[in-house]
Amino acid sequence: MTGKHRHYRNRASQWLREFRHSADQLPDAAVLLDASGRTRWFNLAAGRLLGLLQPRDRGIDLSTHFGGSELGAWLRHGSLVPANDMASPLPDGPRLAAMLIPVGRSARMLLARDISAINRLEQMRRDFVANVSHELRTPLTVIHGYLELLSPDDVPELAAVLDEMRTQSRRMGQIVEDLLTLSRLETQQAPIDEHVAMAPLLATLQREAQALSQGRHRVELVCRSSADLIGSAHDLHSAFSNLVSNAVRYTPSGGSIAIHWEDRDAGVRFAVRDSGYGIPAEHLSRLTERFYRVSSSRSRATGGTGLGLSIVKHVLSLHQAELHIDSRPGEGSTFSCEFPVARILRAAD
Ligand code: ADP
Repeated sequence: MTGKHRHYRNRASQWLREFRHSADQLPDAAVLLDASGRTRWFNLAAGRLLGLLQPRDRGIDLSTHFGGSELGAWLRHGSLVPANDMASPLPDGPRLAAMLIPVGRSARMLLARDISAINRLEQMRRDFVANVSHELRTPLTVIHGYLELLSPDDVPELAAVLDEMRTQSRRMGQIVEDLLTLSRLETQQAPIDEHVAMAPLLATLQREAQALSQGRHRVELVCRSSADLIGSAHDLHSAFSNLVSNAVRYTPSGGSIAIHWEDRDAGVRFAVRDSGYGIPAEHLSRLTERFYRVSSSRSRATGGTGLGLSIVKHVLSLHQAELHIDSRPGEGSTFSCEFPVARILRAAD
């Protein structure tokens, strides 16, 4: 070997050592897979997080190796979508977020990150909100009870103050109840599966809208499906009712509201259309965040807590449906969702 070759070879092996050393310092597992899904190389963290051992697991088919574990199934399904939270294939291993990145023409790099600490923080946040809401419930009930006992006739000079105190204590009570509902929905894995009869539910929604509107709007029911749903009657009513009451609250007098229930190719669709204020496009993606409002004053003036659409989103997701919002300022909005076949019950069933 010439001196020049030896020099290049030494430099190449030094680069390789440096690369391996750096990759082993990474906190995330990195596994390079060839076109057929066999391991070509992996770092130290792949041992800690996935249980891969050098040199034993070099060249193995990764999806077969992880067998029936969540990671194995995810790899076998093509894994185009990153996994946000799944179990490590190790017994008592950490929770993982994983993604596959294409490398060159046909290789792929599996990256897996330990998200146990983030999950713990998220759990602490959830517990904190649930505990605070729970602790606020009793004092609020007491305050509310005493306010109800006081009659404005006893203290006429304070009648306006008393009225405002009652309104605000009711509002606080509603915020606490909505926060508790959200806490429950966040921790729930699946809804209670009941037969939800849609015809009476739709009629109730229409009546609720008319009661809230007090004759200020035209409220129409367009029922083009005889399908019923399988899910939680209470939660679905609450979600649909939120959409209907928003339509009334954000539509000026003289406007119209239509509740739609209709068959679709792959499911059944619920929609609430209004001819109201509409929502500028830049707000649409954030509407289901807690306490996000386009106009705080309009929301408060109509008794909103800012939590309604968050509740709707959670309820729908528990029922494998997604909220779609279509809106134009000045023209109105349509809030809709489509339930998959698995959630539908037809008369013949
Ligand atoms: P809120 O209690 O404030 O109504 P929501 O979570 O139900 O809270 O809704 C969030 C925000 O989305 C509202 O404050 C309002 O700005 C907007 N919004 C919801 N529904 C409609 C609608 N039908 N038309 C216009 N704006 C709406």
